[in-house]
Amino acid sequence: MYNIDYKFIKSFLLEGKRIIITTHKTPDGDALGSSLALFHILKQHHNVIVIVPNEYPKYLSWLPGSESVIIYEDNEIKSNKLIEEADLVFCLDFNKLSRLDSMQHIVKKSQAYKIMIDHHEDPDDFCNQVLSNSSVCSTAELMYDFLFTLDYKVNTDIAICLYTGIITDTGSLKFPNVTQKTHQIVTKLMGFPINHSIIHQNLFDQQNKSRLELLKICLENLTLFKNEHAALIFLREKDLLKCNYVKGDTEGFVNMPLSLININFSAFFIEFKDCIKISFRSQGDFDVNLFSKTYFNGGGHKNASGGIVKGKNIEDSIKYFAISLKDFLNVE
Ligand code: 5GP
Ligand code: MN
Repeated sequence: MYNIDYKFIKSFLLEGKRIIITTHKTPDGDALGSSLALFHILKQHHNVIVIVPNEYPKYLSWLPGSESVIIYEDNEIKSNKLIEEADLVFCLDFNKLSRLDSMQHIVKKSQAYKIMIDHHEDPDDFCNQVLSNSSVCSTAELMYDFLFTLDYKVNTDIAICLYTGIITDTGSLKFPNVTQKTHQIVTKLMGFPINHSIIHQNLFDQQNKSRLELLKICLENLTLFKNEHAALIFLREKDLLKCNYVKGDTEGFVNMPLSLININFSAFFIEFKDCIKISFRSQGDFDVNLFSKTYFNGGGHKNASGGIVKGKNIEDSIKYFAISLKDFLNVE
């Protein structure tokens, strides 16, 4: 937990400021939900813009305010100017500048005051103030605290955004880092006229056929490492092309092998043109943050992390995974 000087922030925000809110590459529900919640609050008194490194998935495009989000990759010149001119940059749901991808250099260079609100371990030192707690289930929960402490009033749009953040980062409130406080916050959010059932439908039940076709291929590829209580699924680039993959289609796939008895570690490899992107999930003590940091140039949380492989094909990456797994567990 890092301390944040609320008194300073309150006085800093007394006058109208030019504010940028940003979040990690390929924003998920927590990243975009937290960003838009803060956007709806700050736009009442400030000139505020949400800029994200690349396109967010379609299953989030109904979030209130999402239509005003600027995609950095598609609007570099305009975004660079806005970031250069900003007084304040909020960095939400990420702890390392590299998670901004091509946007990282301009944010690093910017003279703006920077505030991080995040729940990943070991935040890097690139912000003036840091509100970080890796035991909290979502940035949205931290955002609720942040807004509450600053006496900002939540409204229905904000409640929808925060509810989305909490639900998407907790597997619909099932992960171990969900606490009584999380439920209390959800209760407060449900006090607004939000329709939780419609939100869940928007998030989880508006999928393309391509998603199920990709899932079929993944399940055919399922590989079990029984001694290690681990499972792996993967997709090749040609599968993505064949099924007309769009961003977001594979959301949640990595969790599925965890539903198997005696499996508490799951890996999902997805082959893109220049790299293999990996998601790891676990239940219980298996620390996928450490595993990813040690072998896959990545990180995240104890039970949910991601990593990357460059310069290896999928077969060699899987072989490397098997060796890494044995090494990590010290199994002969
Ligand atoms: P996902 O598997 O959903 O992409 O990511 C799971 C978690 O791991 C998220 O909290 C995300 O921020 C983190 N993560 C994903 N990929 C990377 C990566 O390449 N590097 C680091 N440091 N964290 C990652
Ligand atoms: Mn998050």
